[in-house]
Formats: sequence, C-alpha cells, structure tokens
Amino acid sequence: MEGKKRRILMVNLPYSGHTNPSLGLVRCLVAAGHEVDYVQADGFRARVEASGARFVPYDAPPNTYDAPPHSCVSALNEVLNWGAAYRTVRRIGANYDCLIYELLFFPGKALAAELGIPSYRLISTFALNRNLLRVLGQTGGPYLTALFRSERLCTALSRLFLPKFSLREKIPKFSLRENNLAEALVSEAPPHNFIYTLRDFQPEEACFPETKYHFVGPAVEDRAEEPFSFGESGNPIVYISFGTLMHADKRFWKKLIAAFAGRRVEVICAVGSEKLVCSLGDLPQNVRVYARVPQLTVLRRASLFVTHGGMNSVNEALYYGVPMIVIPFGLDQPLVGRELARRKLGRVIVPRELTAARLWRTAKDLRRDPEAREARIEMQRKAQASGGNLEVAKCILEDLAAREAGRRAE
Ligand code: UDP
Repeated sequence: MEGKKRRILMVNLPYSGHTNPSLGLVRCLVAAGHEVDYVQADGFRARVEASGARFVPYDAPPNTYDAPPHSCVSALNEVLNWGAAYRTVRRIGANYDCLIYELLFFPGKALAAELGIPSYRLISTFALNRNLLRVLGQTGGPYLTALFRSERLCTALSRLFLPKFSLREKIPKFSLRENNLAEALVSEAPPHNFIYTLRDFQPEEACFPETKYHFVGPAVEDRAEEPFSFGESGNPIVYISFGTLMHADKRFWKKLIAAFAGRRVEVICAVGSEKLVCSLGDLPQNVRVYARVPQLTVLRRASLFVTHGGMNSVNEALYYGVPMIVIPFGLDQPLVGRELARRKLGRVIVPRELTAARLWRTAKDLRRDPEAREARIEMQRKAQASGGNLEVAKCILEDLAAREAGRRAE
C-alpha cells in the first residue's frame, strides 16, 4: 500500500447495517498507518473507537433516537440526522485528504467538492440505478414507496425536506445539482464506488461500469466479535435474526420458534431487545434466545439462517455458505430475497404467509436441494476470494497517490 500518511474523514448515518462494513475499512486504513476520523451519532461511539478511528459526534444531533422504527418520528429523525452529519462534515471536512461516505449520506460527493477534497462512496446495499430505485419503491414498504415510487412525489418531498435539514437552526441549502433524492442517489456518484457484495449477486449489473463500481464482496474479514458459547447437542444450528431494526414482534417470534420446537436442531434466535427476550417466556429446550449475538461467529457454524434479508446479513451468510430462508419485511429486503431466490441461493416466505409448518417444510426442502447447494458453494468460493475492505483501502490510497502525482505534474 502507498506510503504517505493520510488524514481521512468518514461519515455515516446511525444505522448498524450501513456502518458495520465501514468499520472494517477503518481497521485496514489504521493498520496501514493512516489516521481516520469518523463522524457518527453518539450511540456508535464505542464501536467506532474500537475500530481504531477517532470518534467525532454529530454537531447538534436530534435527541430522540429511541423512536419506534419505520414511524414518522424515526423518518423525521433521519432527516435531522442527515442535517447534523452534513453540518459536522461541512465544519471540519476541509482539513482532510478525502471524505469516505456511505450511500445514505447522499450529499457526500457535492459536499466534498465544495470542501475541495476527493470523495469515495461505500454502498452497503445493491448499487442503484433509476429502475432499481423504482423496484424499491414498489416493494420496499410505505417508507420507500413514499420516496421512490413516483418521481413527482419524490421531487415534492425532496424539495420540502432537503433544504430544511434542521428544524432548530437554519443551515445552508445542500449543494446538490438535483432537487430530487432519487436523482441524487443515482447521478451524484463519485468516480469510485465500493459495493460490499459480488457482481454476480448485483441485479442489472451491466449498468455499473467496472472502472467506477468496485464489487469488493462481503466485509467480514476482521470484525472483532465477543465470544459465544454454543450448546452441546451436536445438532445442526438454525440461526434466526431479523437484523437490528426490530421487524418482528412476540407473536411472530412464537411462530418461528414453533417451527423448530422439539426438532433435532439447535435454534439460536437474536431477537433485537432484552425486553423481547423476557416477554418470550418459557422456551422449548432446543431454543435459545438472545437480544443480540456475534453473528459471524454463529454463521460460521450455522446450517440454516432465517433472515429478514438485510444486505449485510445476506452477504455474511453467502461468505460462510449458509442456506437462507428470507422473510422480508420491507426496504431493500424483498429485492434481496428476489435476487437470492433467482440464483437458487435461498427461499423466500412473505411474512403474512408464514406458518410454523411452512417454515419447517421450506427448511427441509432447501436442505435437500442439490442445485441450491451447488449455487451456494460457488458463491461462497467467490465471496471468500473477493478483496473486501483491503481492496477498498488499496484502491482509495492508490487513487489519492495518483491524484497527488497528477497535481505535481501540472
Ligand atoms: N448483527 C449482529 N448480531 C445480531 C444482529 C445483527 O452482529 O444479533 C449484525 C449483522 O452481522 C449485520 C448487521 O448487524 O452486519 C445487520 O445488518 P443488516 O443489513 O443485515 O440488517 P439491518 O439491521 O440493517 O436491517
């Protein structure tokens, strides 16, 4: 990797799925001797610091992080968080060699240009074009429908919210060329975009030129995880998790647990909160329930993953070759499920059609399907051969060096 010590600024919105892969990149950059400052919400301080970055809290963040997910309050928080992150980067960004941002921080390219520094974009879902955004608008639930189903509505909402990123304080208007969020996501792509999946899994992959879109594969290489103790039954492990955004309630979990109760499997459930763990009460002897588990450690040993189809979870399972049953609740999950099913990498059950009997039947079918096994092995081979964050770090450092050499030659 290139020798000169760099000062790098990273920024993200407060979502685990969008942040987790980027923390591996921090580790790679710091291990190579570079300095990374990371702008994030306060709830991420410990994780950011553990990765080796200096934590930079948002300027004047909204004060209600515990809003129910997918509610109006959480949508409003998102808008306020964008504003807080934007203000912070705008205040300090000119002091750095470059800005690395995740797709959700959509003004990243324009803001970096204003600050006079290069920018690089990380993408923790699929790379998106207009058509895929339309698909997300049709399948992603009310939130994405409001944003992406109709161009006119997207423009109206964008015009309403984008200039008003803070309700408390006036901030300068975003320096975007578009006044439409969908347009900004698609056409405001910097010269280098890094997607944490494989080109083989990307829908409409021909739309994303190789020089600009680098499919680096899952970011699993060096995530630090706490230890986890497995049961001693020796039975195959079924891991159930719906990510960090709390999609399923107690009734739903009861159905999932009933599918595997008393079977010759060991079931590990990550339900998302201690409150839900307590409310599930007495459990079958082969089922254990946690608020959260070290997912990579569990996936490494799992024989089946029942997942919501969050992009990180799915990429992690592809990396470890784990068969998946996707129960998608919204956002990009239905699209992720569709792409898995299309490639025989997983099966999809829509939440309203879930029954314990159906889940058990699908699990048995999937286990016996030779085509699915072949598809999984092939994908796992490619995922494990992909460069992940080491590749991202290499490309960014080389590009910074090339830019510098170009400037010297002028
Ligand atoms: N995760 C974890 N332990 C858990 C639940 C989730 O480590 O008990 C991690 C998981 O490995 C993944 C992320 O949290 O990296 C969830 O991201 P994903 O995109 O799958 O779902 P989201 O939470 O964004 O819906």
